[in-house]
Amino acid sequence: MKIVLLGAPGAGKGTHAQYLSDKYEIPHISTGDIFRANLKNGTPLGLKAKAYMDRGELVPDELTVDLVLDRLNQEDCENGYILDGFPRNLFQADALTKALAEKGEDIDHAIHFVISEEAIIRRMSGRRVCPVCGATYNVVGMPTKVEGICDRCGSEVIQREDDKPATVLKRLEVYREQTEPIVGYYRERGKEERIDSSQPLEEVRKALDELLKG
Ligand code: AMP
Repeated sequence: MKIVLLGAPGAGKGTHAQYLSDKYEIPHISTGDIFRANLKNGTPLGLKAKAYMDRGELVPDELTVDLVLDRLNQEDCENGYILDGFPRNLFQADALTKALAEKGEDIDHAIHFVISEEAIIRRMSGRRVCPVCGATYNVVGMPTKVEGICDRCGSEVIQREDDKPATVLKRLEVYREQTEPIVGYYRERGKEERIDSSQPLEEVRKALDELLKG
């Protein structure tokens, strides 16, 4: 099952990708996580990506597209994958469609998490991530069991630099201008499936289960 997750930053893509990845035993491929891991390891890619990420802008396509397409050719992607944060503009969406078409494939679902900007801003200010294992939490609604400590690996959770207010506004602007058009791209191809992401987590999961069972 090949799934693309659509929706603004903070709409819940990462959280639900984690759930779907565990449920269907297919990899969760997050370009943001790949860039952050590269940055942590001090790779040239990580250092190049950092400047864009800190400003809330998109990392250039030439650093992003091949990286993802190569990742999709790895063995663990044979039964499918969940793409979270890619594609992020029309060029990337088209590159993905073409690369898959060359293999006679297409994505199966483009799941669009719909939520208002006000709710996103509220949510992102509460988001915390584990810098070690990548688990995500929210101080409102989805807190760690012990305050400030990752449930999975026991490390101290942090607020991402780009979840701070000024960068959040910039990321939302970039989303509106560059990423939102890909919703229409998938809609025209009959792939867009909408889920109201302002609902409580369990309700969103139920909606996902319902959508993917058929
Ligand atoms: P995310 O964790 O998906 O919110 O991504 C964090 C940041 O990584 C974004 O604000 C971009 O700077 C960069 N990024 C992630 N995915 C992409 C992509 N597909 N294309 C360009 N930049 C990306």
